[in-house]
Amino acid sequence: KRVISTQVQEEDIKIEKSLRPQTLDDYIGQQKAKENLKVYIEAAKQRGEALDHVLFYGPPGLGKTTLAGIIANEMGTHLKVTSGPAIGKPGEMAAILSNLQEGDVLFVDEIHRLNRQVEEVLYPAMEDYVIDIMIGKGATARAIRLDLPKFTLVGATTRAGLLSAPLRDRFGVVHHLEFYTVEELKTIILHSAKTLGVEIDEKGAFELARRSRGTPRLANRLLKRVRDFAEVKYDGKISKEVAAFALDLLEVDKMGLDQNDRNILKIMIEKFSGGPVGLDTLAAAIGEDSGTIEDVYEPYLVKNGFINRTPKGRVVTDFAYQHFGLTK
Ligand code: ADP
Repeated sequence: KRVISTQVQEEDIKIEKSLRPQTLDDYIGQQKAKENLKVYIEAAKQRGEALDHVLFYGPPGLGKTTLAGIIANEMGTHLKVTSGPAIGKPGEMAAILSNLQEGDVLFVDEIHRLNRQVEEVLYPAMEDYVIDIMIGKGATARAIRLDLPKFTLVGATTRAGLLSAPLRDRFGVVHHLEFYTVEELKTIILHSAKTLGVEIDEKGAFELARRSRGTPRLANRLLKRVRDFAEVKYDGKISKEVAAFALDLLEVDKMGLDQNDRNILKIMIEKFSGGPVGLDTLAAAIGEDSGTIEDVYEPYLVKNGFINRTPKGRVVTDFAYQHFGLTK
């Protein structure tokens, strides 16, 4: 299990609940998404209508679920959370939808993983707030149309391209969530530390922030890990030295790379002379599936200039060589 995995882990669940900001004003970063949502929410409230359906896409741990909660909170409605893989049958989706109340927010995580039949229930639901359900079987079967309360669907996915076109087109608001800057993460860490009663100074927070891969979920998890370390080995306070020492032990380096990232880069350098190498070839050499490389490892490596994507394949950058103290 990677310490720096941005997927939810058991240890995150307890702290994440208490650390989730409740209002747009408390939500750090993602300025563009925030400003837009503010306007849309205000307008919907003034008209007394449900907010238009919203799609968030971007890597895990950047605050998509958190934003869905904030939308419900700001609209003064309820949040219902589910996910693509959790809904197997059209009837299950129909049941969830018909149990919503006026204005409620339905958050569907990993919405690209809904199966086709379930997805088709969503089309009329999103468009006209109705569902068609089949009653009876065989020759006596007939469809009846049920009205739904006006609700807001908030979908989350890692890449917008994973969604089918008809589903994507039904979202009125689409936002790409960006990796956070070190400064933003520092603010989040200082805020979380306060909530959790952890002592940390500015430099300690900075050290944690720069190794958190632009991801609040990871920032909070590393804060918790380093706190445990500081309590056992030091006086409990997180300074730059304590943070650096603990994170070195966890094998998270100064750019937030771990063994797996370094392994990918090293294989690209050693086996493929730095590339270009095709995604599938790389996946086979590393023993991972190409989807995981594309969704989990690559976004951060590309964003931070370790890898370039070219039409011929992936290429290791000069910066990556420098990171390992190598020359091309
Ligand atoms: P996602 O749904 O994109 O995987 P989450 O919304 O579950 O991510 O966010 C993970 C954790 O990171 C949350 O519990 C929250 O504590 C924290 N977090 C995310 N975005 C922010 C933010 N903008 N400000 C403060 N904390 C955040």
